[in-house]
Amino acid sequence: MHISKRPADRIMASLQIILHAVFIAAIIYWYYFGFHTLSWVLAGIFTIGGGLGVTLAYHRMLTHKSFICTNIYVRRTLIYFGGLLQNAPSWVRNHMAHHAYTDTRHDPHSPYWPYNGGFKGFWWSHMFWLNRKYLPPSRILYNPELNDRDIQWEHRWHKVFVASGFLIPFLIGGLYGLTVNGVQGFFLYGLDSFLLAGIIRTTASLHITFSINSFGHMLGWKARKHNDPFFIQDSSRTNPALAALSFGEGNHGDHHLYERSARIGLLDFSWPVILLFERMGIFINVKRPPWMIVRK
Ligand SMILES: [Zn+2]
Ligand SMILES: [Zn+2]
Repeated sequence: MHISKRPADRIMASLQIILHAVFIAAIIYWYYFGFHTLSWVLAGIFTIGGGLGVTLAYHRMLTHKSFICTNIYVRRTLIYFGGLLQNAPSWVRNHMAHHAYTDTRHDPHSPYWPYNGGFKGFWWSHMFWLNRKYLPPSRILYNPELNDRDIQWEHRWHKVFVASGFLIPFLIGGLYGLTVNGVQGFFLYGLDSFLLAGIIRTTASLHITFSINSFGHMLGWKARKHNDPFFIQDSSRTNPALAALSFGEGNHGDHHLYERSARIGLLDFSWPVILLFERMGIFINVKRPPWMIVRK
């Protein structure tokens, strides 16, 4: 593993190792004891919330400005869920750099470096890049968009949000257990929900978001503009299996093609959610890809 000597990088690497170690323990627990229905329900809610938080809020709303959310409560709820998994300013900054410098040495996580000249590999693009100090070029590092009130709000509360992704399942499971079997039930049911809706859910969700940077640039087909057979793109790929797991993000080739579009490719489970909020008047200025715009 690429682990640098910086204390912050070492802490990040240690947290990754601890999370994966507890994840393995949770899988063993699952094999021997199974999980309670309540834990599955909590895991479902947090998985959908976290997925939409990263893809709708961090990615399409904050980074690409694909739509504007007019309701502060909806906006901050989505950003909160994104905060369960990733830090908003780092995420937005790194993703801006990824699009501006895809497959070059300024791309924080391309599996190819430099493009066509070398290969950093799957694990680098998947998660090991997180363990190195990365600073994007100054036009992105000092981009005023990163001072956005909501991005900074997430940054202030980030550690609390991450902790809540483990504590809330523990407390809800525990309170249910308290009614079933007193104090012993509190800890047993709390542990059950913590392991499934906290540890397993976080680890799985993180790997799905990581997969966009790895598989999304290695496995699938390259998107191409209509009637433009000679249009050559970067290494981004469209992958329907990954799209199904990642609320549409796996159509990553289509995304690099039309990066400001609120809809990413054909199979995009986030799109009906965006349409619903648009109908309610909460999302406005929703940008559609050229292939959806019918010319009269
Ligand atoms: Zn990409
Ligand atoms: Zn993007």
